[in-house]
Amino acid sequence: MKLVFELSKEDRYNSMLPEIDVPVAELPEELSRKQALRLPEVAQIDMSRHYTNLADNSFGVNNGFYPLGSCTMKYNPKINDEMASLPGFANIHPLQPAATVQGAMEAFYQAEQLLSEITGMDAMTFQPAAGAQGELTGIMLIKAYHESRGDTARNKIIVPDSAHGTNPATASMVDYKTINLPSKANGRVDLDKLREAVGEDTAGLMLTNPNTVGLFEHDIIEITKIVHDAGGLCYYDGANLNAVMGTVRPGDMGFDVVHLNIHKTFSTPHGGGGPGSGPIGCKEFLMPFLPKYRVVKTDSGFAFETADKTIGSVKSFYGHFLIVVRALTYILTLGKEGIPEASRTAVLNANYMRHQLKDIYDVAYDGFCMHEFVLTLEKMKKDTGVTALDVAKGLLDNGMHPPTMYFPDVVKEALMIEPTETESKETLDYAIDVFKKIHQAAYDTPDAVKEAPVNTLIRRVDETTAARHPILTYRFDED
Ligand SMILES: *Cc1c(COP(=O)(O)O)cnc(C)c1O
Repeated sequence: MKLVFELSKEDRYNSMLPEIDVPVAELPEELSRKQALRLPEVAQIDMSRHYTNLADNSFGVNNGFYPLGSCTMKYNPKINDEMASLPGFANIHPLQPAATVQGAMEAFYQAEQLLSEITGMDAMTFQPAAGAQGELTGIMLIKAYHESRGDTARNKIIVPDSAHGTNPATASMVDYKTINLPSKANGRVDLDKLREAVGEDTAGLMLTNPNTVGLFEHDIIEITKIVHDAGGLCYYDGANLNAVMGTVRPGDMGFDVVHLNIHKTFSTPHGGGGPGSGPIGCKEFLMPFLPKYRVVKTDSGFAFETADKTIGSVKSFYGHFLIVVRALTYILTLGKEGIPEASRTAVLNANYMRHQLKDIYDVAYDGFCMHEFVLTLEKMKKDTGVTALDVAKGLLDNGMHPPTMYFPDVVKEALMIEPTETESKETLDYAIDVFKKIHQAAYDTPDAVKEAPVNTLIRRVDETTAARHPILTYRFDED
């Protein structure tokens, strides 16, 4: 498929403007372009075909099953987009006077109320653009809090070994050292190791619950108590909230700060379909440090407020507002009954798949899982040479997106499966059959499995080169 730049023909217009009938004003020299802006010049029909072809060659939740563990690839109801397209939300500008955008501000206010209720927090900021930036913002709050008390010897963040890579990355971004906490054989936090790890240098703990292998931390109250008793704060990585929303709340588990991945749990688009949104919630004592522009309700309407010891802005203006509108729509559509039911169904779907696969594949951890579970293909690899990557490629041939691979690091040859609540039993049964079929093929015809995918437009790509030398911009001939 050609790039849009390759379709470009000089002077091919999409629209024609009438002759100018007013004097032409010259731009000041320092503001004018030194070189023509090289935009692709294509007709509307070529443009339309180009994007339609791109969509046809992509795979998303609207194409098929997408059990990408930890990413919660649920269906995004179209009503979310409809609400975000309302002119009062879509056609406003961040610099407009507050009096002219009271409805939009109320949407922020309402989203904050509802998400605070769901997480058990006292306030939220919507500035962070994704989970990772939410983590950064949250740990900056924790640091600002310790510093405001002159408690500056605290420079370590404790992170379990199964954590998402963004957790230790966040800690190092704010100049904290990461203490890696080994998990117990059952995949959960080792309380004795945690007691050994905490001390006067503990700034905080970053924890995902249910954790990244899909297990709920039974000792969660004890975990947060150990950290608090040592003077540290507790950060909840809320990426897995889809397992527990409306049932248990991070605030009640003892956490002080939480980030949400709106684009995971609250049904707004991911990645290329984004942008994302990673609001954070905090307890009252951290509110003075929140980023700028929190919406508050006053006697004369909604207003933006800046906390007195704010850490500043982490993103321009108010974050990705229209994504917040989509999430608010989702919450209001599901309501108080629908929110916990979505989570219960997500957990049920994961357990159904785990149960159907557990006698054929090795499940990494015994017992019930939450919204996702991890397979370990170590034995299959030893027996047949077929790896987790090969199985993932085989799924592509069957119209499925692969699960998350080789994560978390603590599980060898990992495939992490998260079906989400929006898939039907028929879809789950189809996926289970495909997994079984590939398992059989691995033992019967391993070489054929290693050839997969054979039905896709592009077959195996050189992933190392793609990661090490990505070509992300078009090079014009002249360059
Ligand atoms: C997805 C995820 C993140 C990062 O969130 P982004 O929105 O992708 O930046 C952090 N932690 C966990 C456990 C996640 O699954």
